Amino acid sequence: MTLSTNGDDGIAPAAEGSPDLPTKRRITILGATGSIGTNTLAVISEHPEDFEVEAVTAFGNAESLARVARKVGAKVAVISDRTSYTVLKDALDGSGIEAAAGLGAIEEAASRPVDVVVAGIVGAAGLSPTLAAIRAGSRVALANKECLVCAGDLFVAEARKANVEILPVDSEHNAIFQALGANRIEDVDRIILTASGGPFRDWTREAMMGARPQEALKHPNWSMGPKISIDSATLMNKGLELIEAHYLFGIEAKRIEVVVHPQSIVHGLVAFRDGTMIATLSAPDMRMPIAHCLAWPARGRETALGLDLTKVGRLTFERPDTDRFPALRVAREALAAGGWATNILNAANEVAVAAYLAETIAFPEIARLVEETLSDARSAGLDQTPNTIKEVLALDKEGRRLASQAVQRYAARSPAALTRMD
Ligand code: NAD
Ligand code: MG
Repeated sequence: MTLSTNGDDGIAPAAEGSPDLPTKRRITILGATGSIGTNTLAVISEHPEDFEVEAVTAFGNAESLARVARKVGAKVAVISDRTSYTVLKDALDGSGIEAAAGLGAIEEAASRPVDVVVAGIVGAAGLSPTLAAIRAGSRVALANKECLVCAGDLFVAEARKANVEILPVDSEHNAIFQALGANRIEDVDRIILTASGGPFRDWTREAMMGARPQEALKHPNWSMGPKISIDSATLMNKGLELIEAHYLFGIEAKRIEVVVHPQSIVHGLVAFRDGTMIATLSAPDMRMPIAHCLAWPARGRETALGLDLTKVGRLTFERPDTDRFPALRVAREALAAGGWATNILNAANEVAVAAYLAETIAFPEIARLVEETLSDARSAGLDQTPNTIKEVLALDKEGRRLASQAVQRYAARSPAALTRMD
């Protein structure tokens, strides 16, 4: 190793250094109207000299998609819901932006050659568009963690085959990716994901029985889409992230730790076998990891989001309480059981979160329903890891069917369970 001066007085080895910012990058945004999409657009709009937008996609809000497409001058805008095609086309009239509709068109948009595809669709619905981007050989900035949870092995195999880089947008995984730096994964003792603890961190089990969706949606530190906000309140989000980390970094579950850190300043840490820990700190703002992924391997430009540690003051850490937040335990058990179980976990959780948001089941029933669906799936002989995308989607469908049956059982049996505390 050669030592060189680093600055005037330093004798630290010269780091390899990040390259200059690349020339304009072409970006496609899947889920452009959502929280990740909006944050991505904010990063892009701040530095229009660095980016060009190829395609933007959304589920059903054609007008808002058209607004986004016009704002960034996208080449194409694709809406998933075919019935919204005419609204989209009319809203884009005269702009020169192409309009398209349907899942096939989203996959096609994801396959267009670009530098980075931001995978910001929520849920398993993002799987096939994200795989389309991978197969086309584009680098993927992955926010859509459910992709990895419902089809981890397949996803990793496809990414390897296509030789594409998957960059983590999820703040904890982005933090770990940065903390790993040029270190070897063999030298890692464990990785640590931090969790804010969500809005019910201090609530008793009884109080959580009456927790209303509008309370669960109020995250203390982050502003996010509804599904991930509920996942953060149950701590299922951290369970999904545990599974995400396993597939992203190829690290065994027993080497992945979760620590509650209510300030959300330290997003993730890597503990090396020599006892050293490297942590990544930043303001709790998704523009930080998104900007990192869009510029990688270069560093993004100056930002107003820097941290003043003296204003932060205190950083605290505590163990998660898996009695009050069983979702984390259920997710860990699913990861140990294998790919079929994480697939069912994700499907059942999506159904349970929707049922909770519709006020059909109570808050603590989300985790219970997921656990019961896993057990029902095993009894139904669904405990075979899917090997193809067709098998993944078929298992996901079965998981949703079993979970919907459970929702109906809960709804029929327990109006009392929904008794509010007020
Ligand atoms: P969101 O609900 O705000 O937005 C979801 C986007 O996906 C919207 O543009 C929507 O139109 C589109 N979409 C939804 N269903 C679709 C379907 N069936 N087909 C095609 N498009 C569809 O969600 P979000 O909070 O932006 O989260 C997106 C993903 O990023 C999730 O997987 C979430 O876990 C992950 N994530 C989000 C954050 C965050 O800060 N919001 C942080 C980390 C990870
Ligand atoms: Mg996260």
